[in-house]
Amino acid sequence: MGRTRLVAGALALLVGACTTSTEQARDRPTSTASTSTEPTTTSTTARTRTPPTTTPWATTPATTDTRPASDSAGDPLFPGLGNSGYDVEHYELHLDTRGSGLTATATLTLTALAPLERFNLDLVGLTVDAITVDGNAAADFSRSGRELVVQPATTIAVGATARVTIAYHGEPELIDDPSGPVGLGWYERSEQSFVLAEPLGGATWFPANDHPQDKATFDLRIIVEPGDVAVGPGILAARSELPDGTAYLWQMRQPMATYLASVVTGRFDLVEQAPVGATQIRHALPSGYDADTIEQLAVTADLLTIFTDWFGPYPFDSYGVAIVDIRASQALALENQTLSVLSVDLFDAPLADFAARVQAHELAHQWFGNHVSPRRWDDIWLNEGFATWAEYHWAENHSPGREQEQGIDRYQNLDYGPLKGFPPEDLFDTRMYRRGALTLEALRRTIGHEPFLALCRAWVERFGGTSATTQDFFDLVAERHGSSAQDLVRSWVFDEVMPQLPPEQS
Ligand SMILES: [Zn+2]
Repeated sequence: MGRTRLVAGALALLVGACTTSTEQARDRPTSTASTSTEPTTTSTTARTRTPPTTTPWATTPATTDTRPASDSAGDPLFPGLGNSGYDVEHYELHLDTRGSGLTATATLTLTALAPLERFNLDLVGLTVDAITVDGNAAADFSRSGRELVVQPATTIAVGATARVTIAYHGEPELIDDPSGPVGLGWYERSEQSFVLAEPLGGATWFPANDHPQDKATFDLRIIVEPGDVAVGPGILAARSELPDGTAYLWQMRQPMATYLASVVTGRFDLVEQAPVGATQIRHALPSGYDADTIEQLAVTADLLTIFTDWFGPYPFDSYGVAIVDIRASQALALENQTLSVLSVDLFDAPLADFAARVQAHELAHQWFGNHVSPRRWDDIWLNEGFATWAEYHWAENHSPGREQEQGIDRYQNLDYGPLKGFPPEDLFDTRMYRRGALTLEALRRTIGHEPFLALCRAWVERFGGTSATTQDFFDLVAERHGSSAQDLVRSWVFDEVMPQLPPEQS
């Protein structure tokens, strides 16, 4: 039984800092996987990317949301999140990270879905210095909790597009995660900063409509200290040296939920791997990373090829991971869009064996969770179920350590509660991962492997770039495979007692 041959590709250092100095992770991938021994090479050739020439994302999802402007997106699990009355199409964030804290401006291009005499944004902490709407000073603004209430000088009419610019500064504060042990938001470390925001930490570093119902494209211009590096989502469109720092422009040209927006800054090296098709692969590695780390990241190209075959074209321009300085009691990972964050301890023994599975899980989220986002947070099983199913199925069939895999079946006799109707603290409960994955596995064994993958691709094709509900998934299953298949999925989602996994079809 030979090992899967990994497409290691050459890794090239793009930009370096000036010094050289599940149940385990948040996403709880399980079991072990050995890693490639494929040799990799590095180069110290520094270069910057060519600005994009292809057409930016052109499809703006139609919305029928005509609720009046309010301080809530209407999510029953987290009613404080998001707002209504408008749709943000684009965020332009300018972040100066030099010195302590942030000095920033955020320009939101939004369309009014209701008359906006005033409207709400989400912002946690930080000091707002000034707000303009279409270049005119706002008549007024006020703060209350995470709500920033803006009153334009004149009402924004339904259907009108406005540019809202907020100048702000301060030290971002971490906020408690209702479902986990680590804080959410913008992390400052001695040599780096990074973002872990899911589900409600996006507003700790920029004013936002902080709910995955309202996705938007992003331009992030980040200024860092001389010699430091900034890596954001999407593609590096420009990099310029300033007299006392370096400016990076990262562009996310496909819609992104605010909880998936992220930046890492500091003593990183921007390391490139050979592209897979049109997908650029670049990682943000702490300066001084070792060859073992690069070996473990070589699996990225293989994963991209396999998942593209299963789920359809990779939905974004780039992919990579950022290895960040956080050591939770358990290793931690988060699927920030095109730049998954992995905790540094994931690459330490004995957790190193998990690294490949974690990478599979986070990459799968780029289709499931990132491209197709949850309409409400209680649809989270659609994120974690698909990502965990992909992780397991890859590990059992393709991973370097697949001989040791025990299979998803081992969870079928455990009793995981329903996937809907849970409190906020259960958002990342183990059942969202395992019962979620078993739900999809039960469907796969019922309708067959290839029809199941075709269903996955249809799901991504229909709802990519937007957000979707559990009911949307039921409807698609019924449309393609009839009411009995839908009933099966509904039982797996709703029944108090978890159903039995059907036998594998021969
Ligand atoms: Zn996950």
